[in-house]
Amino acid sequence: MLNKVLVKDLGKKDNLLNFNLKKMIDFMIKLGEKKFRAVQMMEWIYKKYKKKFNKMSNLSRPLQTQLEQIAIIQLPKCVTKKKSQDGTIKWIFLLNTDCIETIYIPEGNRATLCISSQAGCMLKCSFCATGHLGYKRNLLVSEIIGQIWYATDKIRKYKLKNSSLPLVTNIVMMGMGEPLLNLKNIITSLDIILSKNAFNFSKNKVTLSTSGIVPAINKIAGKIDISLAISLHASNDNIRNTLMPINKIYNIKQLLLSVKNYLNYSTANRGIVTIEYIMLSDINDHLLHAKELAYLLKTIPCKINLIPWNVIQNTHYKCSTHEKIISFSNFLRSQNYTVTIRKNRGADINAACGQLIGQKH
Ligand code: SAH
Ligand code: SF4
Repeated sequence: MLNKVLVKDLGKKDNLLNFNLKKMIDFMIKLGEKKFRAVQMMEWIYKKYKKKFNKMSNLSRPLQTQLEQIAIIQLPKCVTKKKSQDGTIKWIFLLNTDCIETIYIPEGNRATLCISSQAGCMLKCSFCATGHLGYKRNLLVSEIIGQIWYATDKIRKYKLKNSSLPLVTNIVMMGMGEPLLNLKNIITSLDIILSKNAFNFSKNKVTLSTSGIVPAINKIAGKIDISLAISLHASNDNIRNTLMPINKIYNIKQLLLSVKNYLNYSTANRGIVTIEYIMLSDINDHLLHAKELAYLLKTIPCKINLIPWNVIQNTHYKCSTHEKIISFSNFLRSQNYTVTIRKNRGADINAACGQLIGQKH
């Protein structure tokens, strides 16, 4: 017998990929089931990669039938897969009318999955293709989690066929969109990503990159503990204002204060933040900027990730020369900063940072 509360919702099936454990428990209790059913369901979905209720052998037949009528486990639809010469894989998913991208980046025995949080982005950073595209919509939890489910399932299956591709070891929210402008769904998604009953990633292996939505950083401080990366990209407000319009709302000082506040509560990534800094020729790559940056970050526990800018259409920018990037990093290292230079991966399939525009071809 179908539960009365649920009868009115027939036809609009609940996608169980939208539920963290807490919501799954609420759902099972509404069905008259016990709490442990929710744990079982999470394990079928996230540990055994099952989408069909009739394959979930520890659920009774009547419960399986009931679930088939009111629920579904539905992934976003993958429309394109591209593989780069360097092993990077890009999947494009079609969500109703919008496309989003997910990138798998293998390196040795580790692999990073870069996931999208929004279709497009409203923040219009001048150097970013997603920003040029404009905002389409926030992704649902099932669309965020679905990207991870799809990718980890594919890699798992390739491995069963003897592929040497490494399993996904790290998740970065650095795909399309600004994760902190889709906060509610990102919080639920992170819960699923970190939960022992679901994907079970360590907080040190999950990174959220943000352009600096100060109230949202303050809001998650003490509530979410994952590695944080800040797209700083400039050593002063004048330059940052021209690159990132969001800086006119939350300036560098406010941003760094919120980062300090976040770090007060965070132990992920040894309690340090990653500062992302795009290298743009003659815009932010002079020694003077390196000095300004070193001064600016003096009191922030951080490592600095220099990002060679990836070319996108319709901009006048140029990437800094290799020599400039090296001397910039050498100066910062001389000031006792840990500096890494991001490797450019997947550029031949437009899968590199800032190149994601959700085009099917
Ligand atoms: N909106 C978030 C996360 C997505 S962007 C943010 O801005 O942090 C992920 C990273 O790619 C950011 O550091 C962003 O500044 C960087 N990026 C954007 N366009 C780029 C480009 N053309 N070349 C290199 N990195 C770029
Ligand atoms: Fe949006 Fe990040 Fe691109 Fe800026 S860099 S437009 S915040 S996706």
